[in-house]
Amino acid sequence: MGFSEFLGNSKAMAGVRGMLTAGRVPGALLFAGPAGVGKKTLALMLAKALNCERLKDDFCGKCARCRKAEEMFVAAREDAARRREIKDSARRVEGLVYFDLQLIEPITRYILIEQIRQVRNVAYTRPFELERRVFIIDQAQAVHWQAVDLLLKMLEEPPETTTFILACPNAHELRPTIRSRCNRVQFVPVEDSVIERILEEQARLPRAQLPLGVRLASGSIAKAKTLDLTEFERRRRPWLDYLDGLAGQGEVPRGQRGPSPVRSGLPDNPNRPNRPNWPNWTMVFDSTKALTENRESFEETLSIGYALLRDLVHVMETPEDAQVVNLDLAPRLKAWASKLGLAGIERLKSGLDQAYRLQVRNVNQQLGLDALAIEVSMRQDPA
Ligand SMILES: [Zn+2]
Repeated sequence: MGFSEFLGNSKAMAGVRGMLTAGRVPGALLFAGPAGVGKKTLALMLAKALNCERLKDDFCGKCARCRKAEEMFVAAREDAARRREIKDSARRVEGLVYFDLQLIEPITRYILIEQIRQVRNVAYTRPFELERRVFIIDQAQAVHWQAVDLLLKMLEEPPETTTFILACPNAHELRPTIRSRCNRVQFVPVEDSVIERILEEQARLPRAQLPLGVRLASGSIAKAKTLDLTEFERRRRPWLDYLDGLAGQGEVPRGQRGPSPVRSGLPDNPNRPNRPNWPNWTMVFDSTKALTENRESFEETLSIGYALLRDLVHVMETPEDAQVVNLDLAPRLKAWASKLGLAGIERLKSGLDQAYRLQVRNVNQQLGLDALAIEVSMRQDPA
């Protein structure tokens, strides 16, 4: 046990250890960097090290205080998860109890003023069970605007007994006044070699799929640990059909070539020599149905679409696959890219942006993606 078990982000870890060794851990820290790279893990490690009975600039993980810190962290996480399920807004924040080590997370879209009030209620008092209290405020950019001043006041007059660790993806999403009160520790995406090692240890991917797994995890330890390639492929498939259909590459059964373009008003390009099948509308419409079926996971569906579009741009711009995520699709990516052209890809990208913005409203996303396909097909340059 100890800091040596922390994966990736060695610079951030060394910075934190350096503070401990020098005996100068500031009252407020800001852990900034992408999701899933270990910000909360390192915050918990720091909390243990500040309290460990045996070690000074590290932690043993075994002493009573180390174990207590771990328990408190887990309990706080469970409490937040439970509260997120409560529909009634008053009951959601009822009876908040904060331990000496407390993880504070959004329980709606925001970290609510009641949560920050509870921080203030206890931050200036002596800890009960630990030597030093540590409050980890995760997704600090989500602190509700009504609560930001209250938080700022605490950062300006830091309590002697409490260390605050704010965590957020991007420091610039925080108000400058908040940012300037915290010592920043910057986190970066974790190196591919570390991600690969994690995937190997999990042993859930066949060797041949490791490179794809590494790209999909995109520097996130959390993603690497939960990666389900079968599920990913299942969710990606309708996007492949969408692109295939749009590029006129799907198989159109003989004698049943989709709706007549004349009757339906859909664009047909019978004279293009390189597109014998014209956009395969049956395939397009079936795929948009599959893509929009599950409202809850639509955001994740969109992110798979975005990754494919980024790949299309990469294969147009460079012959190497250095930045391509969907490594297993290289030849198909090239075929789609040449059919769609950069203008088509860009139009698709802004179509997805539109879908992303609309997802909170009650709109028919399938119609949107259908319309997008029609628009892109009409814009394609005549061959
Ligand atoms: Zn310990």
